[in-house]
Amino acid sequence: MSIQQTISQLANQCVLCGLCLPHCPTYQVFHTENESPRGRISLFKALAEGSLKLDEAMLAPLDHCLTCRACEKMCPSQVNYSRINHLGRKLLTCGSKGRQIASRQSFLQKISEKLLLSPLLHPLAKKIALMLAPINRWKKKTFFSFYLHEIASNASLPFSLRESNFISNAKGSVILFKGCSADLFEQQTLIDSVELLKACGFNVKILNTQQCCGAIKLRHGKSDEMLSLAKKNIQTITPLLADYHAIVSINNSCSGQLIEYADLDITHSGIFADKTSDIIAFLHQQLKTTQLSFAPLQQEVAVHTPCSLINVLKEEQLLYDLLELIPGIKVKQLNSQFCCGAAGSYMLQYPQVSKQLLSDKIDDIMQNKYQLIVSSNISCALHFKQGLNQVGQKNEVEVIHPVSLLARQLRGKNKGEG
Ligand code: SF4
Ligand code: SF4
Repeated sequence: MSIQQTISQLANQCVLCGLCLPHCPTYQVFHTENESPRGRISLFKALAEGSLKLDEAMLAPLDHCLTCRACEKMCPSQVNYSRINHLGRKLLTCGSKGRQIASRQSFLQKISEKLLLSPLLHPLAKKIALMLAPINRWKKKTFFSFYLHEIASNASLPFSLRESNFISNAKGSVILFKGCSADLFEQQTLIDSVELLKACGFNVKILNTQQCCGAIKLRHGKSDEMLSLAKKNIQTITPLLADYHAIVSINNSCSGQLIEYADLDITHSGIFADKTSDIIAFLHQQLKTTQLSFAPLQQEVAVHTPCSLINVLKEEQLLYDLLELIPGIKVKQLNSQFCCGAAGSYMLQYPQVSKQLLSDKIDDIMQNKYQLIVSSNISCALHFKQGLNQVGQKNEVEVIHPVSLLARQLRGKNKGEG
């Protein structure tokens, strides 16, 4: 079946009921049918069937989709929106006009994606960020200076980028899938993930052959590039799996993508996906049978649940259960469950939409005077930090990965007992 026929067939399952509309973040921002899931499905269908001419007015709403998949989760007809969207974007990028989608990425977005996907450049980026740190006016609130500041802050942590083995008392071994952004932006999360996994009794291996999961490519309709990254990951990691308990991924969006490798027509993709677990689910399972306890935290903690955890992994409850292991903690949910607008590098491509989507969450933080925000997705965490920086609250409000919060409380407990 051709791409056009597949899109048409999938889109025909939409009964146009509109029940997804109130759940679509871009519909809340633009209030137009074309900026809704139903509108986008109709546009992709018309494009596939050749009944609509491709023009700028059609491209913009298709490109505005955050791929948050809130619509998919709410759809009573179980329309496979993400597949329509991925195939539709692929179709767009086949034509010269559609290639405008790729070229429409901002310069900063293109540079950021190149940098993230080129681990060999990370040490250089860190050196430059550290060199520029004394003159970097990150408080001036530009994206560039803010990211440079974040890279510099992470560069000073003593975590090796190279292939590493961390030995514990060996209940088993796991491969830690760190994704592209942790080296530059979440070194502490890497350190804390290793510490917690070791405390649960696992040896931890980080592979330097690991590639990007491909999610970032899929968003721009580059499904062939995503397939090639998936193939490399599957081919290099699967032969090792007999000796490993699991592939544990620290970033929710990577975890969702790795688990969906199961749908790809690549040898052993099913085995790879079966062995993959998001770190939230993995720790939730392990901590049930491990005698670890955590120091109390008498504080309100506001949780931002990333779209990938809610709509793809469908494991948001596990995050709350995990945090409740900390005695005394008061876990609150940030007031809106719409996407925060980070959506990978979307925040660099459409900063205004992205900022608007974040604003009610920032308002919630300010009104309730939350000082600790938990997010299990690196790109969301970065977006929150940037949003807090813009309102002068970067140093007052801490944004932390749940694994880091648990590790901190574990260290607190051990210190208390030592
Ligand atoms: S995608 Fe689903 S919920 Fe949305 S209009 Fe179509 S059938 Fe209804
Ligand atoms: S994926 Fe998200 S932004 Fe895109 S149409 Fe669905 S709900 Fe709207």
